Amino acid sequence: MAGRVDLDGNPINPITICMIGAGGFIGSHLCEKLMFETPHKVLAVDVYSDKIKHLLEPATIQWADRIQFHRINIKNDSRLEGLIKMADLTINLAAICTPADYNTRPLDTIYSNFIDALPVVKYCSENGKRLIHFSTCEVYGKTIGAFLPKDSPLRQDPAYYVLKEDASPCIFGPIEKQRWSYACAKQLIERLVYAEGAENGLEFTIVRPFNWIGPRMDFIPGIDGPSEGVPRVLACFSNNLLRREPLKLVDGGESQRTFIYIKDAIEAVLLMIENPARANGHIFNVGNPNNEVTVRQLAEMMTQVYSKVSEESSIETPTIDVSSKEFYGEGYDDSDKRIPDMTIINQQLGWNPKTSLWDLLESTLTYQHRTYAEAVKQAMSKTTAN
Ligand code: NAD
Ligand code: UDP
Repeated sequence: MAGRVDLDGNPINPITICMIGAGGFIGSHLCEKLMFETPHKVLAVDVYSDKIKHLLEPATIQWADRIQFHRINIKNDSRLEGLIKMADLTINLAAICTPADYNTRPLDTIYSNFIDALPVVKYCSENGKRLIHFSTCEVYGKTIGAFLPKDSPLRQDPAYYVLKEDASPCIFGPIEKQRWSYACAKQLIERLVYAEGAENGLEFTIVRPFNWIGPRMDFIPGIDGPSEGVPRVLACFSNNLLRREPLKLVDGGESQRTFIYIKDAIEAVLLMIENPARANGHIFNVGNPNNEVTVRQLAEMMTQVYSKVSEESSIETPTIDVSSKEFYGEGYDDSDKRIPDMTIINQQLGWNPKTSLWDLLESTLTYQHRTYAEAVKQAMSKTTAN
């Protein structure tokens, strides 16, 4: 760790980071990176700590004095401002961010992504503290191309689908499509953070993750999360594979996504943390434009990879189609395609993702199999016995 320098060759001084939502998927990987590879301190704030308990126990581990867990719900805890004041930098990851919630719990979604984030922005601004705020690629909504006729040649033109931080519009569906409650709340908090920067000098960076995936993402229903819960697609498909049931393709699985390995994405966040002069005032897409697939292709690839890592043949009917109404209920809608433009992050931080979709699925599904296969088998045999 000695002699670490930033992108401009200046020495990196250890800082204290108040990380809100540190116990989640991204937070757990960011905490690991900071403990394993940097001298920085983390004040880890969350209501859960399961995903970082390996970093908190036992008290003798070498970084024990560099990470502290604070079980705090930021909705209603006066300790938050004190922690932000103690830190040099605040990173806000806390959010409700699973699509199954956006149309079924729109109030909780809006409160979590906008109202609950307000005090964090305010305390950073009032106390002159830097903020890295986690937004989402969903703020782009649908592509312009989605509104062109199906056979229009313009649909092939990147100008109609590549998503650029400083040029693309945010295109959401009607209010009754409550799916967009999340994107809209995230857009408004982005505008507020940006306005605090413009009017009050807040030093900020906004991150727009494009489908970061890897170990510890979400939960497996009935094992480490509610049986009826609907996590994001990686965990839904992992659950289906573990249970040897068909993967469910919502509305034909035609939507397109670019998936990035969590470890590649965390490298980008560390660059933002350690290069404030290059990151402040910017909004960054963080994704892997080379890993684009339709959801159907993702299902097929996950089936193949899982078969390899589990050494089990795949089932006869690996996928089935379901309607979005059946799967998510009323008010669901979808982003059609998400390709991040990488110009700004390349220019400012010289960062590029590395891991191919096949490789990231191989390491992630190896983890899923090792972590859950036995527990799923036991849970299924109990259900059959009852
Ligand atoms: P996650 O759900 O795993 O983590 C969020 C964490 O925030 C959870 O541990 C949760 O307990 C905590 N939290 C929520 N409300 C809280 C509160 N009131 N008080 C304290 N803690 C609270 O999600 P994630 O995938 O790690 O996402 C982190 C951030 O990145 C979110 O803001 C999300 O919108 C954004 N994001 C992630 C992705 C992705 O690909 N993973 C994509 C787009 C946006
Ligand atoms: N999806 C699917 N089957 C599932 C879960 C999700 O077909 O079991 C689809 C979903 O409709 C969306 C895509 O997979 O088109 C990605 O969903 P995810 O929950 O990961 O979040 P999003 O990328 O939409 O934010």
